[in-house]
Amino acid sequence: MSEAPEKPLINTMDGLSKSRKPQEYYEGIKQKFAEERDLRLNYRPEGTAQYTSDLTGSMAEYEIATYGGEITPREPINDTVECLFIGGGFSALLTSARLREYGVESIRIVERGADVGGTWYWNRYPGVACDVIAYDYLPLLDEMDYVPKDHYAKGPEIFAHCQAIAKKYNLYELAVFQTTVTSTIWDEEEEMWHLTTDRGDHMQARFVICANGTLSKPKLAKISGMESFQGHWFHTSRWDYDYTKEDLSGLEDKVVGIIGTGATAVQAVPGLGAASKELYVFQRTPSSIDIRDDWPTDPNWARRLKTGWQAKRRARAMMGPQLTEEQQAARASMPREEKIRRQENANIDYMMRIHKRIDEVVKDKATAESLKPWYMFMCKRPCFHNDYLPTFNRSNVHLIDTTGKGITQITEQGPVFDGKQYALDLLIYATGFEVQKTGIYNQIKGENDLDLNDKYSDGIRTLLGIHSQSYPNLFIMGGYQASFQFNLTDMLQSQGDHISACIDYVRSHGYQSIDVTPEAEEWWVQEVIHHRGKTSRNEDCTPGYYNFEGEFQRRQDGNYNGGFPQYVSHMKDIKTEMEKHFVFTQR
Ligand code: NDP
Repeated sequence: MSEAPEKPLINTMDGLSKSRKPQEYYEGIKQKFAEERDLRLNYRPEGTAQYTSDLTGSMAEYEIATYGGEITPREPINDTVECLFIGGGFSALLTSARLREYGVESIRIVERGADVGGTWYWNRYPGVACDVIAYDYLPLLDEMDYVPKDHYAKGPEIFAHCQAIAKKYNLYELAVFQTTVTSTIWDEEEEMWHLTTDRGDHMQARFVICANGTLSKPKLAKISGMESFQGHWFHTSRWDYDYTKEDLSGLEDKVVGIIGTGATAVQAVPGLGAASKELYVFQRTPSSIDIRDDWPTDPNWARRLKTGWQAKRRARAMMGPQLTEEQQAARASMPREEKIRRQENANIDYMMRIHKRIDEVVKDKATAESLKPWYMFMCKRPCFHNDYLPTFNRSNVHLIDTTGKGITQITEQGPVFDGKQYALDLLIYATGFEVQKTGIYNQIKGENDLDLNDKYSDGIRTLLGIHSQSYPNLFIMGGYQASFQFNLTDMLQSQGDHISACIDYVRSHGYQSIDVTPEAEEWWVQEVIHHRGKTSRNEDCTPGYYNFEGEFQRRQDGNYNGGFPQYVSHMKDIKTEMEKHFVFTQR
């Protein structure tokens, strides 16, 4: 995912190193970065195929029933709504709020979980919180007249905010939970979408919004023998509190293992370390861990906020860091190679500060060395936590550094690494999610019965990552070819504003349907390719989901890298010339 950090990447205003260290110092570190990347690429040449999200058998049932309790039987639904959202997370909530402002009444959310909230419904692991400042991340604060409790919001507060949005905008009325859409098929005669679900429903909708999230389907590393494990196990987004107990007291006499050290594990490990008898953390690649500057919201500051404060804050953030005229002039006169060199050096300076902090916090020298990330900042999702590193000073917590190889074998007792068996009571998979896939669990067929995946087989084709030709009245949120931000809700809000404006345009002009023209779609595909070709970052980085696990030759199958302000500006331009970019049918 091509995300931009919400904090300045490095501590110079113009993002360029002012260091006086010799260039050989930086070249030496870059060499080490390349070696660590190659090591990992050689261990896992299968790229994304090293994972599976096909959670079948006992896991399938457990995957949906978690948190919601038993699925109560109900009669199948056979009706028609105007706007139907597949998924009930922030994508659906933000767009619905805007649709309500346009006067749309018939809105249905169909959601696999037992409530709205999306990622914040599913991810309830201990320590779950958001790394983006709450005043930016929590959307619709102006509309909801709400000021977050802390500088960084914890998971339960965000989940409650989602529920509050759904209540305020009456989204529970038609919502259907514990229900998974399995097919979404366009009827060309009727110009309506027909949807079926795993509960035997047959719903019809004029507009469908694929709001299934960017990281929603849990994935597991395919590890030899994993099915034979006789202990208890689950994925972090399907936390089994019946086993661990709400306060984790169920782990007091348990030997626990966790596979993975990404952003989720970084938040879960401190709680697990404190609660478990023994904790083994199986690491393949360390995350970069910076300080988390958290504090309770100052009530005086909150009281002084004027109506529209969040919208103003968002607009400022969108403009990015402001350079002085002098800085701009210096940048403009600098040759491109020099600029890249100084940016890279600043990035390395930052990563070396991350290393220094590890040395200061972690007492055991070998463990400290193992925790040091050797890649450029933003190759992997950066993490911010104050308790993760100190957890490794506990005598019951053991870092198993697999030096880039990962766990490749699990027996009935637990993982094996370097010939050593780790016997566990509980094994937790913190191995992430399928990334930005449109139509998970669901088959989407547009005009001529064409499956969206088949259309995409030679490369994703959209306008703005939202509209795909031959799929009229279908809108995609959080998929590829959009401009991803470290603050994801910024992007989702922009997409929601755009989609609701498009739907309003169709309704207010007496049209039945909207579809993007082939020319507009082709223009955007070329824009995406053009901007993706400008950087070798995907190739240079250590593998992970940001760079498709090292499958970097992906042309248009990724995010739009032309910058968020540019993305939003394209949206604005398109809306001023709707009839040029779209074809409409009459009612
Ligand atoms: P990730 O995909 O980021 O991490 C998966 C982890 O599993 C990696 O450390 C990976 O190692 C490791 N792994 C995979 N296979 C093996 C193996 N065989 N042996 C050992 N380790 C293995 O998933 P997360 O759930 O941590 O995070 C997903 C995303 O969710 C984040 O990037 C972030 O965008 C979001 N998130 C945001 C939070 C927030 O604060 N806002 C908090 C939590 C998540 P390797 O690195 O080598 O591939």
